[in-house]
Amino acid sequence: MADSEKNNNNNNTIMSTTKPTTAAAAKSASAFNRSFTMQATAPNVDSRPKINYASLNRAMTINNKFYNRMDPVVSAGLSIKEDRIVVYLTSLRGIRRTFEDCYAVRMIFRGFRVWVDERDISMDSAYKKELHCVFGGKNVSLPQVFIRGKHVGGADVVKGMFETGELARVLDGFPRREPGFVCRSCGDVRFVPCGNCSGSRKLFDEEDGVLKRCLECNENGLSRCSDCCS
Ligand SMILES: [Zn+2]
Ligand SMILES: [Zn+2]
Repeated sequence: MADSEKNNNNNNTIMSTTKPTTAAAAKSASAFNRSFTMQATAPNVDSRPKINYASLNRAMTINNKFYNRMDPVVSAGLSIKEDRIVVYLTSLRGIRRTFEDCYAVRMIFRGFRVWVDERDISMDSAYKKELHCVFGGKNVSLPQVFIRGKHVGGADVVKGMFETGELARVLDGFPRREPGFVCRSCGDVRFVPCGNCSGSRKLFDEEDGVLKRCLECNENGLSRCSDCCS
């Protein structure tokens, strides 16, 4: 017990003024000393906000892994523009985990009130082809997030970055929308029925006297909202 007291005194100057006189007091003082030591030294070790290095490293690894490969693809004219946040996702509930991950990532970005170029592959198969092309034909899970033309990763990476505050830092320069803002033209669906064929995907060609496929919309008779998706 004498040794224990001695250690306490050496480790903590407060202890010298409140020297325990009984075994019970020594025990509680020792416990106090332990908790005091933890609280007192933790900020000295690292006073910055705690960073989840594991998730950041994972983000970096994934980023580096794909970055070199996709960079030429992006510069070759794929529409992952460098001025924006692009998220490939699906609104279909086919696979629960995928649906939940897409929803979670959407909500995280919505919380920051930044505009996201949401590319719902269930609305337009061209997005699926784009994604396929970016990853060199490899099947990837959804969602997949790109910020300023660089691949960030899927839901786990984005959630990790959100929790550590890294995402807030990355999104710092992006303009914020008014709280509750919703695009009047598309209701934030990002698509509107094609104005050229009214969503029927067919146009009557008077010269040839036959119905032809409308070239201004996708397989669902939709075109990208011109108000919010320029
Ligand atoms: Zn059309
Ligand atoms: Zn819109």
